[in-house]
Amino acid sequence: MEKLAIKGGYPVRSGKIYYGRQCIEEDDIKAVEETLRSDFITCGPKVDEMERALCEYTGAKYAVAVCNGTAALHCACIAAGIGPGDEVITTPLTFAASANCALYCGGKPVFADIDPETYNIDPESIRAHITERTKAVVAVDFTGQPVQHEAIRAICDEYHLIFIEDAAHSIASKYNGQRVGSLADMTCFSFHPVKTITGGEGGAITTNDEALYKKLVLAHTHGITHDEAQMEDAPHEGIWCYEQIALGYNYRITDFQAALIVSQLGKIERFAQRRKEIVARYNEAFSQMPEIIIQKEIPQADTCRHLYIIQLDLDKLTCTRREFFDAMSAENIQPQIHYVPVYWFPYYRHMGYEKGLCPVAEHIYSRIMSIPLYPLLTDKDVEDVIHAVKKVVANYRK
Ligand SMILES: *Cc1c(COP(=O)(O)O)cnc(C)c1O
Repeated sequence: MEKLAIKGGYPVRSGKIYYGRQCIEEDDIKAVEETLRSDFITCGPKVDEMERALCEYTGAKYAVAVCNGTAALHCACIAAGIGPGDEVITTPLTFAASANCALYCGGKPVFADIDPETYNIDPESIRAHITERTKAVVAVDFTGQPVQHEAIRAICDEYHLIFIEDAAHSIASKYNGQRVGSLADMTCFSFHPVKTITGGEGGAITTNDEALYKKLVLAHTHGITHDEAQMEDAPHEGIWCYEQIALGYNYRITDFQAALIVSQLGKIERFAQRRKEIVARYNEAFSQMPEIIIQKEIPQADTCRHLYIIQLDLDKLTCTRREFFDAMSAENIQPQIHYVPVYWFPYYRHMGYEKGLCPVAEHIYSRIMSIPLYPLLTDKDVEDVIHAVKKVVANYRK
């Protein structure tokens, strides 16, 4: 058996690789440079172009570009009319922003449990958490796999809830052949550097609903409108006039970030293809290892994974998740954990949320880790990752 690096052996590789990283190419840099040399570096044509490109790509009627994915979620909650006392059902196995967006509006995040095989929110658990205060569902396409749209749609229709999809992980995925972005009432994207395509920072909301679209537009630019049809005091003295008709924020994105996102969107299929190749290779390798459980893919999903998660069957191993994590790290394959259940954080604990709320999510959390997945990984990198997992498993096999 190979000696683990953490016990003084040689690591599987010399340079460290991480769970995710951006892929920026020369034409991306050129697109940003051209915009920086143009007349508009914000509020210009690139933002419109980004919104049109997102509509075209997702099939949604409307898109609003914003400065990050968190702002996208906040705008969606504003458009959904979330206010003090309103409940918003979401998953605990996500980045905090999926729940914080309800708090920004004075609402209350309510955590539904997850499916033990897909790790996505369990529609039956959504149903079980509905009260007369429930107003919306924020369903996260965890690691890129779309949530169960038919089931969640049916529940939202039955109880008149707004269906917000947190698609920070899933921009290149489809559900029943339809692209993410045109399925839920509102879909929120993030263009952070670890996500499938990036703008450095960036985000967007897509929707097919004109009324929601108008609210999203107001929410991301101070609640100010230049559209006479929406003004209360029109007609005005001149075209310089505008009105603030709601309380909004400055959540605008710059034109040079929009230029980068447009450029990246143009190559998303190539990125997605490479991610899928790597996922297929990992699945093939790990499905033969009883100690490693891989994420289940539902038949409706055509997933471009943003994260690749292995679940350790700790009953078959002599180590803890922490020991496995540290051993992988010493092999120069740096894993990450996605995510600590949101309601475990002190801020949530102080609001009265307690451990044990979502037992499935807590159990899955205690056994998972994310391993490197991004388009720039070479075949050699991928084999190094597999080698490291096999080596660590071999050393800790019961
Ligand atoms: C990244 C992420 C966000 C937030 O996006 P930012 O652009 O970083 O604000 C929200 N939800 C999930 C699930 C994410 O992974």
